[in-house]
Amino acid sequence: MDTVIVVGGGLAGVRAVEALRGKGYTGGLTLVSAERHRPYDRPPLSKAVLAGTTDDTTVDADWDALGAELLLGERATGLRLAERGGTLATTAGELPFDGLVIATGATPVTLPGPGRQHVLRTIEDARALRDRLVPGARVVIVGAGWIGAEVATTAAARGCAVTVVEAADAPLAHALGPEVGALTAPWYAEAGVELRTGVKVASVEDGHLALAGGGRIDADEIVVGVGVRPETGWLDGSGVDVERGVVTDAGFRAHVEGAPRPDVVAVGDVAAWWSQRYGRRLLVEHWDTALNAPDNAAATLLGEDAPYDAAPYFWSEQFGRMVQYAGRHTGAERMITRGGPADPRWAVAWLTGDRLEAILTVDRPRDLVQARRVIAAGTPVDAAALADPSVAVRQAVKS
Ligand SMILES: Cc1cc2nc3c(=O)[nH]c(=O)nc-3n(C[C@H](O)[C@H](O)[C@H](O)COP(=O)(O)OP(=O)(O)OC[C@H]3O[C@@H](n4cnc5c(N)ncnc54)[C@H](O)[C@@H]3O)c2cc1C
Repeated sequence: MDTVIVVGGGLAGVRAVEALRGKGYTGGLTLVSAERHRPYDRPPLSKAVLAGTTDDTTVDADWDALGAELLLGERATGLRLAERGGTLATTAGELPFDGLVIATGATPVTLPGPGRQHVLRTIEDARALRDRLVPGARVVIVGAGWIGAEVATTAAARGCAVTVVEAADAPLAHALGPEVGALTAPWYAEAGVELRTGVKVASVEDGHLALAGGGRIDADEIVVGVGVRPETGWLDGSGVDVERGVVTDAGFRAHVEGAPRPDVVAVGDVAAWWSQRYGRRLLVEHWDTALNAPDNAAATLLGEDAPYDAAPYFWSEQFGRMVQYAGRHTGAERMITRGGPADPRWAVAWLTGDRLEAILTVDRPRDLVQARRVIAAGTPVDAAALADPSVAVRQAVKS
């Protein structure tokens, strides 16, 4: 392989470049990214950047040593695949390649209507919103998901009058289920944030939200945090299979007309990869996957057999709490709580038989680290011990 192109300059893109070089690839390497910036981290955008405590989240990478050409502010617009390799159409011209890494991430979903709505994906989005979070501003956030909760936290701390509107009956219901999501509802009131659940928005109008059942909510600023869509439009007509994300095998080989291609990989938020662990495709929109999975994708592109089999992990910082999750609870047989509700530090664990499937921790980072290991190893646990917050998670493992 003499020419590899990485499309997308987010975390997955830069990590793919580093991994290719780290594994000894010495050929031509080009990173094409629609953003004008060098790759930067997004998690701080809804945290420190919005709070105004940092303004630069550039990923620390030695671009000179990496010897990669950076085409910043340029967009891939189409893809033509040959029997081997192909040509990438970009705003900077046609670029032939032998190997391709698709790492174009995801774009926020917006709501219908002519009114101004903020989304939060880029550093420009974060700076623009930060400038508007002034004391007394009426900020209405649509969506009580991870981003909505983090924006609400910062907006309230900056003295805004914050309302969060959520279509489901509880915050985080989509991610965690309504029962666990409901445990986070009191955090809003404590922070002085009004949470309105079961409210569907019809459209964003000038200065207000129009609600589906009639009625309106007036706002100076409207922030929409209702999810993202993998950025795959530029692959239309290329033959690459897209089912929400780019369909890949366990080593991130992109499927083209039903079969994995050894010379095209997709990784990060854009990829719907086959998880051997869960026996299904996963589309994981979290930092940890964008950080680690490119190692496997790069190895695959260089001809190794490198399936990625990690259990998903992410964190969120909201209302002064560190919330962390590992594993996958969908389909788990039962749920147990560990601590709470009187104890502000609590966790919820999901089990199938005596296997730990997933854990959610609130200000219990040690539990998270230990549980993550137990989930990865699949070792059986004693549910009664796990339910006791005074017993370390690792001590709940059955010998
Ligand atoms: C505000 C915010 C807060 C977050 N907080 C957390 C958190 O606390 N914990 C956590 O686990 N995860 C968090 N995440 C998620 C995490 O940041 C993402 O999972 C991660 O950024 C995905 O990286 P990626 O490289 O796959 O995609 P992206 O970061 O989306 O990067 C894709 C890049 O590709 C570019 N691109 C798109 N289309 C094209 C094209 N056609 N041609 C060229 N370039 C293109 C984009 O402009 C972008 O630069 C957060 C995300 C956001 C937005």
